[in-house]
Amino acid sequence: MSDRKEKVIVIGGGIAGLSAGIYALKAGFEAEIYEKNAIPGGECMGWNRNGYHIDNCIHWLTGTDPENALWQVWKTVGAIDENTEYAETDRFYTSCVDGKEVTLWNDLERTEKELIRESPGDEAEIRKFIQYVRYAEKCVLPAIKPMDMMGIKDYLEMGKSMADMPKVMKEYGKISCKELGMRFGSPVIRKLMCDYLPEEYTAYSFLVSYGTMTSGNGKIPLKGSLAMSLRMADRFKEMGGILHTSSSVEKIVIEKKKARGIRLADGSFATADHVISAVDTDYLFGKLIDRKYMPKDLAKAYADRRSYPVTTGFQAAYAINADFSAKDTVFFECAPLKVGERSFSRISVKNYSYDRSFAPEGKTVLQANLVQSDEDYLYWESLSPEEYAEAKRKLTGELTERITARFPELKDEIMLLDSWTPLTYNRYCNAYHGSYMGFVTTVGSRQMRFKGIVKGVSDLYVAGQWIMSPGGLPVAVVSGKFAVQRILKKQGKSIEV
Ligand SMILES: Cc1cc2nc3c(=O)[nH]c(=O)nc-3n(C[C@H](O)[C@H](O)[C@H](O)COP(=O)(O)OP(=O)(O)OC[C@H]3O[C@@H](n4cnc5c(N)ncnc54)[C@H](O)[C@@H]3O)c2cc1C
Repeated sequence: MSDRKEKVIVIGGGIAGLSAGIYALKAGFEAEIYEKNAIPGGECMGWNRNGYHIDNCIHWLTGTDPENALWQVWKTVGAIDENTEYAETDRFYTSCVDGKEVTLWNDLERTEKELIRESPGDEAEIRKFIQYVRYAEKCVLPAIKPMDMMGIKDYLEMGKSMADMPKVMKEYGKISCKELGMRFGSPVIRKLMCDYLPEEYTAYSFLVSYGTMTSGNGKIPLKGSLAMSLRMADRFKEMGGILHTSSSVEKIVIEKKKARGIRLADGSFATADHVISAVDTDYLFGKLIDRKYMPKDLAKAYADRRSYPVTTGFQAAYAINADFSAKDTVFFECAPLKVGERSFSRISVKNYSYDRSFAPEGKTVLQANLVQSDEDYLYWESLSPEEYAEAKRKLTGELTERITARFPELKDEIMLLDSWTPLTYNRYCNAYHGSYMGFVTTVGSRQMRFKGIVKGVSDLYVAGQWIMSPGGLPVAVVSGKFAVQRILKKQGKSIEV
């Protein structure tokens, strides 16, 4: 019998790909990751400008509570451990309307009191909302094994730990964030309910997001997103994995209905016993293999932009040379901003002063975000290079004006570091419509769940945030593990890894 270890090739060195590589090594395979960019991390990224660090991912990392099974996955991949230090933030975000502001605090009692003080007439609805956020704190993402590999015992245990979640689904699963907002009489509370997630998101997703913060299971590791990605890449290399950076994969080689390896953009080939794709599924099914292999549910979602929208952003980062009073994330109204035919009158800024490593002493980084949709992406894409540069320059200038109009104290203290559009995410990560999450779960859509195997091609597995709505870091990291478990299962081996 040969002692040769079977080899797994992973395409994409984002969080899903790094996780797949680490779990493949843990399961006894050889593993090599091919990443198109010069550094791994994909959308879990940050970069430096003029002595400042722009952190462009983690607003909250689900799975920071050691009691949660997901914590063990993050620990295994080297992202966090018992010694990780977290940002000391006390709130999710603040919404402002007509001079009034309300905050979603991590302390639910404080939020409840503040909202009732703001709008006594909404007391019953506020109390109900707070109660259901408490229920939503119990929501957990399956992290031990994929749901289709779970037995009755696993389901019973999951059901026990998520006892009150069905109530949240029942009450808030069939309404959008916008509809949730409409349940309140106070204009500022209305906005609070639909500022963070796109309005069409199910309200249930919003309660789960907020519950992750209030339960302490969604903290922000200090040093930011890139540092976390690099810790995972180090873990992979220390375990014996080979990470090929600046290595763009052009095709998955399929022979006799089996994935045999990959062809790189430089024309070279690499062979493997198993291939895991950890790139965007729109890119996999279309560029790396023929679109005909795309599962029907996924194809339907891509074809239906209304029921399965995606979300991205136009963003700008600033150096602030001041003691800036706005804490963490603040949403506010502004004079209209035009992107193509669409007009926006609400933006958010996020103060990164919670992490002293991002800016020189006494200064901070501020980022502004204008949420963008499929339609906005198509506008940016339609522009010629010259038009694109001009539109980006103009919008950046207008955004800066809106920020200083809202915070006049910043007028002489703000310096633009960088700005980027939905196209940036497509160029950098091959992200579909620049989306940095998976499909948005709307009231009219079914939550996307894709098993991560490709009908008609054996030994090809799919990881990445698109396999389960709404995507994000937790889905990405478990999807890498799950892809390896699928290989093990097919080989009749234990899936405990
Ligand atoms: C501004 C912003 C804020 C966010 N905030 C949060 C948050 O607070 N919490 C949260 O959970 N999530 C957040 N996310 C989402 C999170 O970043 C993503 O869900 C996650 O990083 C996706 O990981 P992935 O590995 O599935 O995909 P990706 O990160 O897209 O990784 C895919 C990788 O494949 C590479 N690749 C693509 N094509 C090829 C090719 N042909 N050959 C080789 N390599 C290729 C890409 O370069 C990339 O590195 C945020 C994202 C952004 C941008």
